[in-house]
Amino acid sequence: MPDFEYTIIGAGVVGLAIAAEVSGYSRHVVVLEKNLRYGLETSSRNSEVIHAGIYYPPGSLKARLCVEGRDLLYRICGERGISHKRCSKLITASNESELPQLESLYRNGRENGVRLQMLTKEEALALEPNIRTVGAIHSPDTGVISAHELMDYFAHCALEHGVTLQFRCEVTGIDAQPDGYRITIRENGVESSFTSEKIVNAAGLHSDEIARLAGIDIDKAGYRLWYAKGSYFAVTPAKANLVSRLLYPVPRNEGLGIHALRDWGGRLKFGPDVEYLEPKVLDYSVDPSKARAFAESIQRILPGITADDLTPDMSGIRPKLQKRGESPRDFVICHEKDRGLEGLVNLVGIDSPGLTASPAIARYVAGLLK
Ligand SMILES: Cc1cc2nc3c(=O)[nH]c(=O)nc-3n(C[C@H](O)[C@H](O)[C@H](O)COP(=O)(O)OP(=O)(O)OC[C@H]3O[C@@H](n4cnc5c(N)ncnc54)[C@H](O)[C@@H]3O)c2cc1C
Repeated sequence: MPDFEYTIIGAGVVGLAIAAEVSGYSRHVVVLEKNLRYGLETSSRNSEVIHAGIYYPPGSLKARLCVEGRDLLYRICGERGISHKRCSKLITASNESELPQLESLYRNGRENGVRLQMLTKEEALALEPNIRTVGAIHSPDTGVISAHELMDYFAHCALEHGVTLQFRCEVTGIDAQPDGYRITIRENGVESSFTSEKIVNAAGLHSDEIARLAGIDIDKAGYRLWYAKGSYFAVTPAKANLVSRLLYPVPRNEGLGIHALRDWGGRLKFGPDVEYLEPKVLDYSVDPSKARAFAESIQRILPGITADDLTPDMSGIRPKLQKRGESPRDFVICHEKDRGLEGLVNLVGIDSPGLTASPAIARYVAGLLK
């Protein structure tokens, strides 16, 4: 018999949510994490927005799991006292030429089952007097959450159900066997191995590498990841009250566009932009010289901001399945039985809205492996 029933690779919000879910009915679950603690990569370097589900193609995993995850998150936050705010959001058109796209976003969101209101210029200005707008979408179910507290909650649930959380433990090999897998790990420079019936690959930025370790040709499978950094700038406290909810532009190129974010503690910041990095380079530095470009971009929707109001804050890196300029891809969440890898689920390209979707992703993965 294998040593474990479930091995989950990666202790970000997704791996932890899955551990919490499957530990409800299995006593033999281990989570392997190469860092010192859980949540030190993308899960702690994001906007902490509970997305309503407006942007994603209807029927896609992103749309379905975002809407389901959003409702689950609000329920968990309410029951467990996790810091959050259902603060709502406006997507504002800054000139007439953006109105058709605003309307198409509205229709897309409605098709995904999202509660939305179309606002006239006057109605939008009544909510946010300092913005530039000719019309806006109001999303009352968008909010913000403490990602750390959410991860603490999932970790606590998992530990309470007897899950083993193993830190400083990097997966370096996966070999299929008749009744599961032999997994090789490196801890403090020493390699060892154990066996597991099932594997969930929730390794975030490195999930394509884990799929490759399992013997999958990641180029043929379309699993190769590209890194797209998103930087943030904090706004001087004197201007932190210019908006009272989240404020987004109509998206132009890649990403949702640099937006104004009030976190659950009330701090205002702008971001994230989209900057593709060289392959596999994890560069989290924030270039201070971007302040001017950020100010110009945000002035489209919030004219009272100048570059002098901004200071470099933090950045995060998105694991993208598409290269720069290519169309956005859906999450890959795949039970690889058709490749002869029964019991292995790969999660690849879990970029936004992965935080929002995390509890729904956990249920979906559990369903695939039951
Ligand atoms: C700039 C930015 C803004 C975002 N904003 C939002 C937002 O507002 N709302 C939203 O819903 N989503 C947002 N997202 C997306 C969200 O942050 C991610 O979808 C989510 O955090 C992904 O979680 P994860 O657990 O899959 O990955 P991660 O948090 O990256 O966790 C993966 C873990 O796997 C571990 N690991 C990797 N390889 C190995 C190995 N070989 N052995 C052991 N462990 C390994 C890593 O150390 C890491 O801890 C944003 C992302 C970015 C970058």
